[in-house]
This record gives sequence, structure tokens and C-alpha cells, in this order.
Amino acid sequence: MNESRPAMLDVQAIRAEFPVLAQRVHDAGGQGRPLAYLDNAATTQKPLAVVDAVRDFYLRDNANVHRGVHALSERATAAYEGAREKVRAFIGAESAREIIFVRGTTEAINLVAAAWGRANVREGDEILITGLEHHSNIVPWQMLRDAVGAKLVVAPINRRGEVDMEAFERLLSPRTKLVAISHLSNALGTINPVERMISLAHEVGALALVDGAQAAAHLDVDVRRLDADFYAMSAHKMYGPTGIGALYGKREILETMPPWQGGGDMISMVTFDETRYNELPYRFEAGTPHIAGAIGFGHALDWLERVGVANIAAHETRLLDYATERARAFPGLTIIGEAAHKASILSFTLEGVHPHDLGTILDREGVAIRAGHHCAMPVMDFFGVPATARASFAAYNTREEVDALFAALEKARELFA
Ligand code: PMP
Repeated sequence: MNESRPAMLDVQAIRAEFPVLAQRVHDAGGQGRPLAYLDNAATTQKPLAVVDAVRDFYLRDNANVHRGVHALSERATAAYEGAREKVRAFIGAESAREIIFVRGTTEAINLVAAAWGRANVREGDEILITGLEHHSNIVPWQMLRDAVGAKLVVAPINRRGEVDMEAFERLLSPRTKLVAISHLSNALGTINPVERMISLAHEVGALALVDGAQAAAHLDVDVRRLDADFYAMSAHKMYGPTGIGALYGKREILETMPPWQGGGDMISMVTFDETRYNELPYRFEAGTPHIAGAIGFGHALDWLERVGVANIAAHETRLLDYATERARAFPGLTIIGEAAHKASILSFTLEGVHPHDLGTILDREGVAIRAGHHCAMPVMDFFGVPATARASFAAYNTREEVDALFAALEKARELFA
């Protein structure tokens, strides 16, 4: 990663790469509004380079991977494995064998819970998560807990939406087998001090899994510097296709793990009596993978590298700072989540207006946000709200779109006044 000062993005040039952004919504009768897409934490839009890569694959190279002996299959395999190498390079992993293609973060975490968890977590062992987690970093551990009789321990958060690090440290013990933490909270935008959390986990002999679903397109991720044992991500939040993501795992750990799904591609030999499993990473990729998706993911990473994650992060921070400043001055608005270290996400409530109504009113004004519990119901419970409205930023967003958000909020306030 380039350590020099971040460069300013040419946002208009970037927007031209995302045709979906150049539309008006609710345009019946020509009354439509320009789209301000501020729902990037749910999924980002895709640049032409990604859409073209997926299209080109299907139009030119489509074949199944690994087993083919013909030209198309060789091309498909080279492109698929090339994408794996791009993921490796993007997160600084040592070997492409440590990169397993999965459907996304949810599947990555389920893979670890099923394969590593069932083999290593016993009755009385503990899994430590935080009060900030997305359901996909809670439920798989509850399922494991219930299957093996382990305990799920939750490190609390404070009113700013930060993990209480003293409590986190106190809750670690030799019983802790795994620490599973989000890098960047989707509900609040909090950046967790994952490097420190991982090092504390290692001190008690636990492994550390990082849910990088939100972080990977907004923060510099270097799995070796973090010393993460597992890192999970979703391509669709990184300008790539849906249905594809990656799990990074340290080779020495993946090598000890039994497979979690059986089928084609994950074996080296099968008889009716016995099966020998394939080497990494194929042992964890049973069945025909999402080949086009992986290729699209690789192109999304090319795009991110070209624009520069650090440049994108600086741009998003400027937008978040501006939006936060406007939010603080907006009557009746409460920001939910005011961590000292935040990225790209502004969660809030508006007095007298249910977040879902707010979402609908904003949508009529062309402003796409998310309203709900953001798959983080325990976070909503902690703050005593049923839901929040959430604006989340990406490389292509502008200050004018933040203004459009607040103009729409003004309308909502007038409607409900
Ligand atoms: N963790 C976090 C922090 C998320 O924001 C999300 C997606 N909202 C997930 C996990 C799950 O990702 P996916 O739905 O792509 O599997």
C-alpha cells in the first residue's frame, strides 16, 4: 500500500464508470429525482470493468474449471486462479492456497464455525465476540455453542459504540478458543482496534477471526500485519459481484481443518470405502464454484488498487465528516455511534419519524439509504432503538449527495412536524 498522502479522487470520472448512478428514480411524469445512492454498506455499485469482465467470461471463456482439458476450460481455470492470486495480493496473504472462495462473509464464517469449530471447540470452551457484531458473526457461533456445549461470551460496547477494551481483556482467558470480531461495524461505522484485539487473543492461546465485510473496501487490510488467523470478506461490498467472497486462513491452520462440504473438486481420490481430500484451497471448495463471480471479484480488486483504497478512504472520511457536521446541527437528529475511529457510515434517528418512514420519504427524494436493524439487533437493543437510518459512503459519492440527504431529511421533518 502506498504510504504517501492520499490523492484527491476525480469523482466525476469515477462516476462515469458506474452507469447505474446516472439515473433519476420515481421518474413517472418527469418528476423524478437524481439518484443519490447512499446504501453502500449493504452493497456497492459495480464499475463497468467488473460488469464487462463477467460478460466477457460468459461470451468468450465459459467452461468449468480444473478438470477440463480443452482451451476454454484452461482459460476459465487460469482466470479463476488468477482471481485467487489477486485476492492474495490485495490482503497481503503469503500464499494463494490460503484463499478460499466462498459465497461471502456469511459463508466464510460458517465454514470456520463448521470445519474449525467442530474439530477444536469443546464443552466449556469459550468464543469471544463483541457487542457490535452482525448476525452472521453471532449466529454461527451460537450454532456451534449449542452443538458442542461451548459458551458465547460478548465483550460490551460503550455509549459511543466502541468496544470496552478493558472488559474485552478481562473476558479473555485460557478457556477462550476463538475471538471473532468485526473490523468495521456495519451498524455504527466503528473501526475496531483489531490488531490489538488479535494480539490479546493470541496471548491467551486463542485464534482470531476478523469479519472484514465492511472493512475490505474502506480500510487498508494486511492480514499478515494484523496477524489474523481468519479474515472474511464479501466481493459485493467491494465493487464486485454478489454471491462471491473469500475466506483467508493461515495455511498451518487450514491444513489441520477437516472439510465442511463434500463433493466434487474437494477430493483427490474416492472409493465407496474411503475418500482422500484434495489439497488447499480446493479441499474447502466442493462443487462448481462461482467462476464468473470470482473473475469479477478479481477485476473489482484491480479497480480498487487502481483508484487506491487509501484515496477512497480519505474521500469517504471527508464525506462522513461533512455529513456528521450537518447531522449534529440538524434539529431532532441523534447520531447512533460516535466512536473516535469511524469510517464511511452514519447511523441516526430522527425524532418523531420511524426510520422506515424516513427511508421511504428519502427514497421519494431520490436518496437511497437503509433503514432497519442492519442485521445487528443486539446493537439496536443496546441503544434502545428499534432501528436506525443509515447513510453509507463509497468512492463515487459527492458532497452534493450529502446535501441531498439533508434536504430530504428537512422534508421528512416538515411532513411529521
Ligand atoms: N458482517 C458485516 C459487518 C456485514 O456488514 C455484512 C453484510 N451486511 C456481513 C457480515 C454479511 O455479509 P454477506 O451478506 O455478504 O455474507
